[in-house]
Amino acid sequence: MTNMLQAAYSSDNFREQGHLLIDQLADYLEAVRQADTSLNAINYSDPEKAMQYWKNDLTGAEPGEMQSMFAKALDHSVKLMHSKYMGHQISPPVPVATLAGLLGDFLNNGMGVYEMGVSGTTTEQIVVEAVARQLGFSEEAGGFITSGGTLANLTALLAARKLKAKDNIWQEGYRGQLALMVSEEAHYCVDRAARIMGWGDAGIIKVPVDAQFRMRTDQLDQCYQKALEEGKEVIAVVGSACTTATGSFDDLGAIADFCRRHNLWFHVDGAHGAALAFSHKYAATVRGLEKADSVAMDFHKMLLTPSVTTALIFRRGGDSYQTFSQQAEYLFNRKEPEWYNLAKRTFECTKLMIGFKAYSIIRTYGLSLFDEYVTHVCDLGQKLAQLVNDTEHMELPVIPACNIVCFRYEPPGLDDDRLSNLNERIRQTLLEDGEYYIVQTRLKGKLYLRCTLTNPFTTELELSGLLEKVKQMGDLELERAGSIFK
Ligand SMILES: *Cc1c(COP(=O)(O)O)cnc(C)c1O
Repeated sequence: MTNMLQAAYSSDNFREQGHLLIDQLADYLEAVRQADTSLNAINYSDPEKAMQYWKNDLTGAEPGEMQSMFAKALDHSVKLMHSKYMGHQISPPVPVATLAGLLGDFLNNGMGVYEMGVSGTTTEQIVVEAVARQLGFSEEAGGFITSGGTLANLTALLAARKLKAKDNIWQEGYRGQLALMVSEEAHYCVDRAARIMGWGDAGIIKVPVDAQFRMRTDQLDQCYQKALEEGKEVIAVVGSACTTATGSFDDLGAIADFCRRHNLWFHVDGAHGAALAFSHKYAATVRGLEKADSVAMDFHKMLLTPSVTTALIFRRGGDSYQTFSQQAEYLFNRKEPEWYNLAKRTFECTKLMIGFKAYSIIRTYGLSLFDEYVTHVCDLGQKLAQLVNDTEHMELPVIPACNIVCFRYEPPGLDDDRLSNLNERIRQTLLEDGEYYIVQTRLKGKLYLRCTLTNPFTTELELSGLLEKVKQMGDLELERAGSIFK
C-alpha cells in the first residue's frame, strides 16, 4: 500500500477526527438548545461567492487536515436544528439517526442483493411493518424504503400501470393513452412521473381545488367522464396528504370510494403528511389513507430521519413485486417469499442502509417519539396561525391542517401585485439577514411567505418574533422604496 493509502485508512486518524467532529456537532447542538442568539438559522451567500469560497478552501487546504473543512461546511449551511429554522419541510434529524447514518456510510453495504445487506434489509422490513400497522393497514400490507418521495411516487405509479393498464406495457410498449387524476395543487413530481412514463400532457388530468386547496372530489366524476369521452384510459387517482404549498389534505375516503367504483388505483402522496397517522391528536386528518392501494411517506420530512428515507407501502404487499417483474404473474393476497431481495422491488440497485436510520429511532425511543414530535409541530402550526390572525395586517390564506403555514403582510393601500412584490422583498431580506429561515410560495398568483414548523425547540417566542420581524422589514421596505410602492 502507498503511504497515501496508509494514511487515508489510518484508524488513529479516523478516531481522532471523528471525535473532533462529534464534539463540534454536539457543541453546536448545545448552543441551539440554549437558544444562543449569536447563531443564525442560515448563513446565505450567493452562488458565485459560495463557489469562490470553496475553491479557496480547496486550494488552501493542508494535506490531511479536515477539521477546518467540516467547520466551514457547518458554518455555511442551513441549520435545521435552529429554533428559527422554519423553511422547507425537512426535519432536524434525531442524533441517533445521524449516528446510524454514519455507520451505514462506513459499512457501505450495497443491499442490491440480500447477502450484501443482511442488517439493512431486515431492519428496513421491520420499519415497513411498523409503519404499515400505524397507517392502519392489515398484515397483508408490505413495501420497502426508497430514496425520496419523488421516486416512491413514480414507483407506485409504475405498479399501478402494471396492475391496471389493459395493455402489457412492460413487454409490448404503449398502444393507448393512459392517464391519472390528481389535484391541481399536487407536488410537481406526480406530473413529472406521468411524463416520465410517456403519457404527456394528456396523461395528467388536474382536478380543481376548493378554497382550502383540497381536491374537489365532487368534480371527480365529471373529470373522469370527460377523459373517457376523449378516449383516455384512466388508471389511477393520486390523493395529496398533504399538498406541499399549503399543507392541505385531500378527502382520502372520498377518493377511495371513487376509485373502488371505477376500479382505479388509489395512490396517496403522503410524503409530508402521512406521518400525521403517528399523532393521536392529528391522526383523523389522514382518515381513509388505509384504503389506498399504495402510500408514499417520507421519514425525512416529519419523522426526524436524515434524508432521503421514504417508505412506500402497498395495501396488498404482493403488489409491490409486480412493478418491475418480467412476467405478468399475479400474486393475489400473499407476499412473495423472497421479501429479502429488495432490489427486485425497488428502483435502486445499490442502496445505502437508509431504513436502518429509521430503525434506530424506533428501537431507541419507540413510535411514541413520532407521536410527540408530529403533535408538537402541528400544534406550533395552529399557534402561528392564531398569532397571524391576531396581528394587524397579517393575512392567512388557508387554515393550516398541519405544520405548514402560509401568510403575508398586507399593509393597507397596496394592490395585489404590490403586496406580492413587498412580500417577496421581505423574504429576500430575511434570507440575507439569516436570523430566521422561511420560504415563499405563490397561491392563485399571489406571493405568500411560507413556514414549515419542523423544529422541536421552536416556541411561541420565535413565532411572534418572526411576525414582528416581517412587519419591521416590510415597513422599512415601504419607507425605502416609497415611490415604487405607493
Ligand atoms: C416533499 C414532497 C414530495 C417530494 O419528496 P422528496 O422526498 O423530496 O422526493 C412529494 N410530494 C409531496 C406532497 C411533498 O411534500
